[in-house]
Formats: sequence, structure tokens, C-alpha cells
Amino acid sequence: MRPEVAAGTNPLSQPRCEIEKTPLEGECQRPGEVSHKGMILLCGPHAVLLQLEDRAQAVLGSVLQMDEWLQQNGSSGADEEYLGRIGHEREEAKAALRHIRVQIRSARKEAQQ
Ligand SMILES: [Zn+2]
Repeated sequence: MRPEVAAGTNPLSQPRCEIEKTPLEGECQRPGEVSHKGMILLCGPHAVLLQLEDRAQAVLGSVLQMDEWLQQNGSSGADEEYLGRIGHEREEAKAALRHIRVQIRSARKEAQQ
């Protein structure tokens, strides 16, 4: 997919990183190089950062889903082995989430330079 330059910007100038269009970050002076979800153009470090944040969101979503499932099924005589497996998966997801958050911190530092 080819990144589209937003209407109204000067087509002759190098497109800038559009991170300020997300609610998370401020303006960025680096050139936009990577298309994020085909919607906005980001510099390399901000593209990495947003990818990590998306992944953290997805993993967090699955942890919450498993929490909900365990709450509904944990005490109602559900299959022990299955319960154990969900519990184990939940621990793994939480560990992955911690790891992603560490990566996000360093990606954010890098993006701020
Ligand atoms: Zn940027």
C-alpha cells in the first residue's frame, strides 16, 4: 500500500511524521517514512513505538478476556485441565505484556531524541 499525503500539504516538501495526529504524542520534526495502518505517516522510531503500543493493547485485551472467562467459569466445575491451561496462558500473556512495556519505554526514549 502506498502512503497517501494528506490533502493540503505541500506535495513538494518531504512529508513529516504525523505522530501529533494520535492522542498520545506531540509534534515530531522527523520525516515520515512508514505508513501506520495505511492512515498516517510516521518516522521510524514512532512507527516502532505505535506498533508496540498496538501489540500491548492486543495482549492486554486477551488477558482481560481470560480474566473474564476465569471469573465466569472458575468456580462452576469447569474442566480442571482447561482451567489450568487458561491460567497458564494468562500468566504468559502477562509476562509478554511486561516485556512489551519495557520495550515501549525504550522506544519512547528513542523517539524523543
Ligand atoms: Zn516521529
